[in-house]
Amino acid sequence: MRFLVVGAGFAGATCARQLAEAGHDVHVVDRREHIAGNAYDHLDEHGVLVHRYGPHIFHTNSDKVFDYLSRYTDWRAYEHRVLASVDGQQVPIPINRTTINTLYGLDLDEAGVAAFLERVREPRESLRTSEDVVLNSVGRELCDKFFRGYTRKQWGRDLSELSAGVAARIPTRTNDDDRYFTDRHQGMPAQGYTALFERLLDHPRIRISLRTDWRDLRQDDVAQGWDRLVYSGPIDEYFGCVLGKLPYRSLRFEHRHVADVDALLLPVGTVNHPNEHGYTRETEFRHLTGQDHTGTSLVREFPTDEGEPYYPIPAAENEALFKQYQAMAEAEAAGGKGVLFVGRLAQYRYYNMDQVVAAALHACEELLAELAAPLSATPVRQEETVA
Ligand code: FAD
Ligand code: UDP
Repeated sequence: MRFLVVGAGFAGATCARQLAEAGHDVHVVDRREHIAGNAYDHLDEHGVLVHRYGPHIFHTNSDKVFDYLSRYTDWRAYEHRVLASVDGQQVPIPINRTTINTLYGLDLDEAGVAAFLERVREPRESLRTSEDVVLNSVGRELCDKFFRGYTRKQWGRDLSELSAGVAARIPTRTNDDDRYFTDRHQGMPAQGYTALFERLLDHPRIRISLRTDWRDLRQDDVAQGWDRLVYSGPIDEYFGCVLGKLPYRSLRFEHRHVADVDALLLPVGTVNHPNEHGYTRETEFRHLTGQDHTGTSLVREFPTDEGEPYYPIPAAENEALFKQYQAMAEAEAAGGKGVLFVGRLAQYRYYNMDQVVAAALHACEELLAELAAPLSATPVRQEETVA
């Protein structure tokens, strides 16, 4: 069977590989001029490896996803650390023992920090919004120092207008662990993400067309020569936004390079700025990649409503609209079109990279099982009769 895969990010590339390995011919199209989607990295004009769309750190608790990607890359061991610039000091985020002791001039042990948090937190019966999550764990003052301003900048909304899952990404700790992630597997692809994607997509049954927008191809699917579609672009766009636009949040990235440095400029990979500047955070890539270089390259992230859709916005009303689009997708599948919607934009999920790979592997397992089933066990699909 011939598949058209829209998008060469983690969702599209994983599906392409799985389908090609199962003996199908796959044509991957992406409207950008490169593969790897938002994980794309490249040498900047100074020769420093940078992530064009902001810092990407791989982390997962899934052995399956880690083993799968390890077929296409070796890893550089790396554990991300982040400091937040608060009250004129740089302190660890997630909030931990060091954060509390530094901010308040205390010397609490773990039990002392737990008692401190117990005193300041505002217990909530139900954790519906991100505000509930933060107030319930650290109370109002720490919420205002670390979360409210950052969130307003990042999402253009108050914490109370976002689903609980957004702030729940950031834990609170009473110990000294200052790692951003605690997953079993964490690291950076040893030669970078784009090199990983080159290997992932390197298969005789996969062909790739860049600078190619699926919307220009969709009119004429049979003539274009595909039987089935895997779609990893925005789901509302697939349906011409007939039910209205799903909101996505965007970022403007400001990259800069500083030549001839004696030492790296930031103390850790990323410094967050919850309450100052127009940007949320700054990242220095050589911390992440370990690259040797005489200069250093950094990126600042300025959130905006305009531009590429980077983040689905987790909120009840958006989820409701997404569900309507999802129902349209299911109706289309039942009508025989059988499009696979997979990835952060197509599933409108605030997914990390590993979750996208897991979703893509799962979707392909189901699809391949369906295709392998005897005909009597599956409804005859229109495109199978056409093909
Ligand atoms: P994408 O990577 O967005 O790929 C979709 C592709 O489809 C795009 O290349 C797009 O051009 C293409 N496309 C869309 N519509 C069309 C069309 N009509 N025709 C042709 N092509 C089309 N995750 C982590 O695990 N760790 C991190 O540290 C991390 N940091 C992040 C930092 C930032 C700033 C951002 C924005 C995301 C971060 N993520 C991180 C999330 C990660 O980027 C995503 O989970 C992952 O890249 C999503 O993969 P995807 O294939 O679903 O989507
Ligand atoms: N967040 C915050 N302050 C911080 C870090 C995170 O308020 O210093 C909140 C904010 O709403 C952010 C969310 O937690 O959007 C998730 O943070 P994460 O670092 O996971 O965001 P991402 O890397 O996906 O942009």
